[in-house]
Amino acid sequence: MATLDLDVPAHEHAARMRAGDYTARALAEATLARIRAQEPALHAYVTITEELARAQADAADARLRAGDAAPLVGIPVGVKDLLCTRGVRTTASSRMLERFVPFYDCTVVERLQAAGAVIVGKTNLDEFAMGSSTEHSAFGPTRNPWDLERVPGGSSGGSAATVAARGVPISLGTDTGGSIRQPAALCGILGLKPTYGRVSRYGVVAFASSLDQVGPFGRDAEDVANLLGAIAGHDERDSTTVPVPVPDYTAGFARGLAGLRVGVPEQFLERGLGPGVREAIEEAIAVFEHAGAIIDRSVALPTAGAALAVYYIIAPSEASANLARYDGVKYGFAVTDGASVEAEMSETRGRGFGSEVKRRIMLGTYALSAGYYDAYYLKAQKVRTVITREFESAFAEHDVILTPTSPTTAFRLGEKLEDPYAMYLNDLFTIPVNISGDPAISIPCGFADGLPVGLQLIGRHFDEATLLAAANAYGEATDAGKASPAALP
Ligand code: GLN
Repeated sequence: MATLDLDVPAHEHAARMRAGDYTARALAEATLARIRAQEPALHAYVTITEELARAQADAADARLRAGDAAPLVGIPVGVKDLLCTRGVRTTASSRMLERFVPFYDCTVVERLQAAGAVIVGKTNLDEFAMGSSTEHSAFGPTRNPWDLERVPGGSSGGSAATVAARGVPISLGTDTGGSIRQPAALCGILGLKPTYGRVSRYGVVAFASSLDQVGPFGRDAEDVANLLGAIAGHDERDSTTVPVPVPDYTAGFARGLAGLRVGVPEQFLERGLGPGVREAIEEAIAVFEHAGAIIDRSVALPTAGAALAVYYIIAPSEASANLARYDGVKYGFAVTDGASVEAEMSETRGRGFGSEVKRRIMLGTYALSAGYYDAYYLKAQKVRTVITREFESAFAEHDVILTPTSPTTAFRLGEKLEDPYAMYLNDLFTIPVNISGDPAISIPCGFADGLPVGLQLIGRHFDEATLLAAANAYGEATDAGKASPAALP
């Protein structure tokens, strides 16, 4: 009989609960207690959903008693506060939605519930998912469990930090330009951005609709695979989801790394990497090679370097349109004592949005305005197509492409806050993949100066299974990702 140990992965909890070692309710109570104890230091959550968690845990216990062996039954999960939850406020970490309580669940939350998961809270993020450090939350920053003076990355920083701190075994984030992979890397856990169209965006607060995807965080590949399996698949309420079958993402785990054709584009290893990052990546490449993978360093993605520029036209343009709905009339924060409707609207937006969100709205409105549309937006869309084709041709000869996830390890709170461009550079390696729509995973691959380094594997459209099989094999071949941060309750 195993005792209740919060440090084990979700699949281990599932096995122990099925064996009758402890109940989902007991796991939920222990999880809530740990989260409450960690919150003063970490601030990973905007809202802790104690009552919901208890009700879902009791329902999970009924399913366990009935012999339900689905992998997420009774498993505690944190959900980014960008995902609409019925009856639970959904803030996007913005004053604008501080008191917004949705009357419906987004599709992925519905699917989590159908899978038997237990939602313990809504995690902190950069306001409307704009940022790379979680410092742009209107409710204060989340801290990195490896070093509380440093950021956890972002925008899904709360979801990454709570998994790294062993608060919950798994969580959900969203990734528009790197917001799952970069915080996964900075917190030393796994995070996967699915192929665009793999997971429903219905009920997810929109940032840049042609780039946004929901995806899983976990501490091993099996947990990430099971969580992806639960949320993926066609949804008639999101016409951009693709009706292709969802495989069992753990089915290929026996494959290992032998014969895996890995492209390593040199250009991603040359550009401004922080100390120790290249070394950690090179060591990981050696592990791949030792396990039988075929490494090819001649792969070229010549236009990928333009992806950051393309992103900062397309993402703000889409954001400026998506965020037009926060006008003080429909829902959310509203100033109602102005001299005119126009004055009220501009006060509402002036006070409801933080500075980074305003910066994006201005950038996007400018790029879409008459006379500039062709020069910026249309041009960016053309370059987007070129980047997508370059990835396609790289995948003719490679199964995966390997890069660092982020140029640096976790930086100090405040370090990049006054310099938006320095903040944007965090996503140099992750953004090309949102532009192309391909899936990608960040895997912990060691440490530089005591801080986690992440390795990114990019795959073909809808081939998350290969990424997960490779992540699993790499995880089994090394100790990377098994250490845990010290000194948290
Ligand atoms: N850091 C990038 C941005 O600020 C990406 C954010 C995201 O993926 N949501 O836009």
